[in-house]
Amino acid sequence: MTVTRILVGVKRVIDYAVKIRVKPDRTGVVTDGVKHSMNPFCEIAVEEAVRLKEKKLAQEVIAVSCGPQQCQETIRTALAMGADRGIHVAVTGKDYEALGPLQVSKILAAIAKQQKVDLILLGKQAIDGDWNQTGQMTAALLDWPQGTFASEVKVEDKKLCVTREVDGGLETVSLTLPAIVTADLRLNEPRYATLPNIMKAKKKRIEQVTVEELGVDVRSKLQTVSVEEPPHRTAGVRVENAEQLVAQLREIGRI
Ligand code: AMP
Repeated sequence: MTVTRILVGVKRVIDYAVKIRVKPDRTGVVTDGVKHSMNPFCEIAVEEAVRLKEKKLAQEVIAVSCGPQQCQETIRTALAMGADRGIHVAVTGKDYEALGPLQVSKILAAIAKQQKVDLILLGKQAIDGDWNQTGQMTAALLDWPQGTFASEVKVEDKKLCVTREVDGGLETVSLTLPAIVTADLRLNEPRYATLPNIMKAKKKRIEQVTVEELGVDVRSKLQTVSVEEPPHRTAGVRVENAEQLVAQLREIGRI
């Protein structure tokens, strides 16, 4: 069995190394002038898709990103890693602020149908909102089987075998295509794009579409009331032995 077309969701997020700051008016976090990159779990998803193609188990890899114009840079990174073409779903302003897993899932489901995709590969979660919902919601909307938190993906005779990292250990599920897989950390180690591949990626096609063209309603029922920094941790106390530790814990009412 080979996969005809893989759709990989690549989200542009604030780079993992940046120290996040909350805006003074508490409406969100500061994004202006802050380094952004591809969400690390999406890099793993792209790598897996490209490996399937290199092993001739898949024919085409499409990278899709929903958000402002800069998302095209994220798509270019996916193209430099080996994706064949990109789709940028333009979402800006208030719609972008409200863009969450449900809205992205509706977009991905619409593209999957339009492009006749038979495998959607996503990150297990995006490190900005930490939602961990888009894969599951897209599977529900399309009524496709899902293999989330994948640490291994194997294409077998007529099935896709996905080993999942679950609380109690590892679970293997067998999916019939079309299906959705979300990538966990141990699935692979994503490659760095080489300079020649970055140059080649400039010639690859990125199609831009709007949510209206896709016929997707991206209105959200969620409202952000306030965004706050987590409370600062106070300094710890050094104890000499277990008795002192127990006494300290009693004192602060922890035991
Ligand atoms: P989340 O459910 O928000 O934690 O995101 C899980 C995965 O969904 C990400 O790793 C991406 O593969 C995909 N995804 C979420 N938001 C977007 C977006 N704006 N554009 C493209 N893919 C996205």
